[in-house]
Amino acid sequence: MSFAEIIGQERAVDALRAALRRGALHHAYLLSGPEGVGKGLTARLLAQAANCERDDGDACGACASCRKIARGVHPDVIIVERERDMARAGRWEPKGGRTPSRDIVVDQIRELVDRRLSLRRFEGRRRFVILDPADAMNPQAQNAILKTLEEPPPDTTLVLVSSSADGLLPTVRSRCLRLPFGPLPDALLAERLAAEGRAPDVARLATTLAAGSLGKALALDEEAIAARRAAVEEAAALPPDDARPWIAFAGRHGAKRERAREVCELLLVWLRDVLVVATVGEGVPLALEDLGEATVRAARLGPEVALRRIDSVRRAILALRHNASGPLALEHMFIGWFHG
Ligand SMILES: [Zn+2]
Repeated sequence: MSFAEIIGQERAVDALRAALRRGALHHAYLLSGPEGVGKGLTARLLAQAANCERDDGDACGACASCRKIARGVHPDVIIVERERDMARAGRWEPKGGRTPSRDIVVDQIRELVDRRLSLRRFEGRRRFVILDPADAMNPQAQNAILKTLEEPPPDTTLVLVSSSADGLLPTVRSRCLRLPFGPLPDALLAERLAAEGRAPDVARLATTLAAGSLGKALALDEEAIAARRAAVEEAAALPPDDARPWIAFAGRHGAKRERAREVCELLLVWLRDVLVVATVGEGVPLALEDLGEATVRAARLGPEVALRRIDSVRRAILALRHNASGPLALEHMFIGWFHG
């Protein structure tokens, strides 16, 4: 791997490379932005580039140092993850036989600060601590790392990786140099998906649903897209005068918030088709061609109904982003569909 493989994040990557070249890395960075756009990879590449045996400001990916960092076994590159994930990987054991937490807990930070960072560097030129995801630190853990963020040991850089930096205490955020990562452009996602051999219609829908996250787009393969499309087909066929099937639908597809949101996002794509057919008639190219019949049926209700439904789906997506319960958000959405 090299920095050239991070796509669409020139501003953040250029800032880091410039600091590397000048030998002036900041002592604490916060890489923030949506899930799946290259933040975690950039943090690891930075650690590799700073310690690469070629020493040319990039990671060669092939030297002993680069390889150790990639495998997570370099003694000077410390990666702190959720307690549960570290326990699962055999890199951490919770004290007193406690069940591992989904958080990064204060014990992990104490181990880092009191033990690992109190030692001298072993073999690297610069030591790195990568906290990923940093927002998994509970408040106690965040408070425990404040002093280190302010005054890390010499030749040490802390890199906080976060897709919800709002979950970090202001005192933590203010001690880091923030490098925002943006959502990736659709054209870029489409290009990558095509290179992965995805069929054009799968690639198109995955791009729409991924909202700029390459990680998410790659996870949405044929099977995942088919499952979400089936949910939309189901919704398209719901009877207008019986509430029970909608409640059942909400229960089936709302249990996981992320999944509920994806179903809503695909519903939005379909409803735009419905609106097009309702306003300009049949025979125009549609995003979801295979739902043609249901689309024409729904379009007969007129453009006002389509617009109202689009509006209620948008509100459901927003609510789901703000942690609303999946089944409730979907129920509200359907109430908006049928009793606007
Ligand atoms: Zn190297």
